Amino acid sequence: MLWAVGACLCFLVVVPPLVAAWESVRMRGGSRDVGFWALARAVAGSCHVPWGRRGSPVVRFPLPVGEGRARALRQGGGRWIVEGRAYLRSNFGFAARICAPPAPPARWRAPGLAVARVYPEETEHLQHCSLETTDERLLRWLLRHAETRRLLDGLEGTTGAPSAEVTLAGSVVIVRALAPRGWGVGAAMEHVGPAVVEVLRRLSADLEDLASALEDAGDEALVSAPCAGCGATIEADPWLCPGCGTPLHRGCREMLVGCAQPSCGHAADALPARRPPRAAAEVFEEALLEGS
Ligand SMILES: [Zn+2]
Ligand SMILES: [Zn+2]
Repeated sequence: MLWAVGACLCFLVVVPPLVAAWESVRMRGGSRDVGFWALARAVAGSCHVPWGRRGSPVVRFPLPVGEGRARALRQGGGRWIVEGRAYLRSNFGFAARICAPPAPPARWRAPGLAVARVYPEETEHLQHCSLETTDERLLRWLLRHAETRRLLDGLEGTTGAPSAEVTLAGSVVIVRALAPRGWGVGAAMEHVGPAVVEVLRRLSADLEDLASALEDAGDEALVSAPCAGCGATIEADPWLCPGCGTPLHRGCREMLVGCAQPSCGHAADALPARRPPRAAAEVFEEALLEGS
């Protein structure tokens, strides 16, 4: 009887740490996964791997104008999100969020971001998405392009992702697609990544056209230094990037999860060499992990 209780206790003490250790090894293996290189090849890009074990590799790829990057983000429950960003050369003057399937409005807010209602009888209608924007006129301009509408409305079908979100933020376009349950990071990058890049390329081409048209028309907000995250003028108390000094509305910084400049170390997907030096505590923690 006593030995059975002892065995149970041993089991309870030993198994949970083993499972935790296995989980951590499984997740960590991800950052060197061949799926990143497969995506880089598929989109004619290059793969940048950070030293050490932290952080997702970043796949850089060319866009019609500007720079594209893709990386993986870890979601709760061991699932992965494939995130692609396009950094455009010009500001297209508005912010928007497009979600498929429809989702409640965002927690962060670029000033003036509000739900947009586009009805089924209108050309700009998307059947499977919810829309928010700071400028309905400019969002409608974008949605008038049939090919763009087809890609956005079919986000779940084209990417194979159960849910996807597109954020248009002044001069940055972000596409996030949640990989199906049970997929490793490599499979997510290899199979969801190319569709994410396709959507980014399409949107960047359209939005660069829009930016040029706005510039030609001498759009007032864009002439006076606008916020790089939404295109509107910044009136008071901006967030100033500690790396490059770019001012952003605080809500726009939240929306971008960092700076809007691709060359800045404070951009959410800054290339490994451009990341700011890590805090001493983080280095110490990593040394402990290496030693264990
Ligand atoms: Zn802004
Ligand atoms: Zn910056």
